[in-house]
Formats: sequence, C-alpha cells, structure tokens
Amino acid sequence: MSSRKRGMAHAGRRTSEDGVESSISEAAAVLAKCQHAIAFTGAGISVESGIPDFRSPGGLWERFDPVEYAHISTFLRDPERSWEMFLAVEQIIEEAAANAAHRALAELEREGVLGAVVTQNIDGLHQAAGSTVVHEFHGTHAELHCVDCGRRYGRERVLETIPPHCSCGQALKPAVVLFGEAIPAGVSEAAFSDADACDGLLVVGTSALVFPAAQIPYQVAGREKPVIVVDREPTPLTREVSCLYLRGTAGEILPRLVTEIMAKRAGGETPSVASGGFGGQEQVPG
Ligand SMILES: [Zn+2]
Repeated sequence: MSSRKRGMAHAGRRTSEDGVESSISEAAAVLAKCQHAIAFTGAGISVESGIPDFRSPGGLWERFDPVEYAHISTFLRDPERSWEMFLAVEQIIEEAAANAAHRALAELEREGVLGAVVTQNIDGLHQAAGSTVVHEFHGTHAELHCVDCGRRYGRERVLETIPPHCSCGQALKPAVVLFGEAIPAGVSEAAFSDADACDGLLVVGTSALVFPAAQIPYQVAGREKPVIVVDREPTPLTREVSCLYLRGTAGEILPRLVTEIMAKRAGGETPSVASGGFGGQEQVPG
C-alpha cells in the first residue's frame, strides 16, 4: 500500500502547537480550492456537545447492551424494552447543543467549500448549527417511524404513551437505523453519489469502523481526492488512507481551519468560482 508510509508519518506527528498549526495551514490550502467537498462525521464531533460516544467507557452501550436493546428484533418482539434505551438517548440529545465544530462545518457550506455533510450521528446538531445538506446515514432521533406502514411522526407523539403507536396500530420507533436494519436507500444513494463527485473529504470524529458508511473515505481516497482527518487520536484512516491528519478535538481544530481557509480565499489563492456557483466575492479577476 503506497500510502501507508505517508499515513504512518502523519500518525506519528507531534502534537506541538507548531505541528498542528502547519497541518491546519496545509489542510486549509487544500480545502480552499474545493467547491463541493463533503464532510463525513461521527460521534467525535458531538462529544463536545455533551453526547458521549455510545461505545466509549461510560457510554450508552455500558448501560444498554446494544446487541439486546438496539437490535430491530428486540424492538419487534418487545418495543417497551427498546424504548428504555430510546428514552435514555432522547434525554442525552435533548440536553445537547451544537458546538463550534458543527458551526464551522455550516460556515464551510455557506462559504462554498462543502457541498454536503454525511453524518453517522442521529442528534440533528448539524442542522441545528445551520448546515442545510445533511445525509443522516443512520437516521435521526428527531422523528418517529412506523416499520409497518412507513408513516413518520414528530417527537410529540412520544409524550402520549410509551411505546407510542402509529395510527395503524404498530408501535413506533425513532427514525434511527437499528442493528439488523438497512440504511434508508435514498440516504445511502445520496451519500455515495456525493462521495463519487466530491473534490475533497473532511473526516471529523470518526474512526470509520461501521460499514457501509465507512466506505466513504476509502471511496474518495480511491478517486485520489484529498482526505483530511480531524481526530483526537490516530485512527485506521490516518494509517491506511492517504491524508492529512489534524490531531485534536473538532471544536478546537475546525474553527481555526475555517479561519485559515477564509484567509487563503480572501488572499486570492483560489481559482475563480464557476458561474452560478458559490460566493462570488471569492472570484479572482482574470
Ligand atoms: Zn403504521
């Protein structure tokens, strides 16, 4: 694997202030030239919003064995049991607010760098921060879904009874993808289509271990487009995918990355933007 050596070098990069700064500048130079990059996010971006990674120590999976509680077969057999976990998730999400990292990605969309966010999170915080094109790979906790007839409902239905019921009589579940369930076809199509067309990928807070979502960075790298990883610790991606690796928390790194991208664009280092595209003020007279 030709990219391995380079990836290892990044994984071993020191986290001194200088090292991080030079990486941010390097990543900003790459992203400043992008016009329809995508961001691929996971649990790590929402940790600073107070939503612990379910898989981390003290996370939700320590209280609720996912094999039992988060499997579609459990919900179908005993929806009340699954709702013990759904309510715990709801409480965590209700108390959370978008953080600086979510807002930075929304800013990159407005700036015409990002065309979409593909997220594995179900917390809705990208939309809360202002991102408008968000593919929620694992669904959303903001709505309820009937596995029988397909009707969807707002959260207020939860207040009635636990478990809440569809007008067809079936127990409702949050519109999240449980273990044993397929990714909603429209969402995965949109996400993979964007991964096929993007001019760069910014991976934030995910070690990309859960397939099929985890295919996305490999798909983009396979097209030889830049893959930039922001994570607190090295991940398989920083070792196996040719990329720039920015080590740190998303809330610390992303706002600085946005500032540098804006500075580079304002400095006229970006190519002119196609007509009908994004942010005309960045066009270079030519
Ligand atoms: Zn129904």
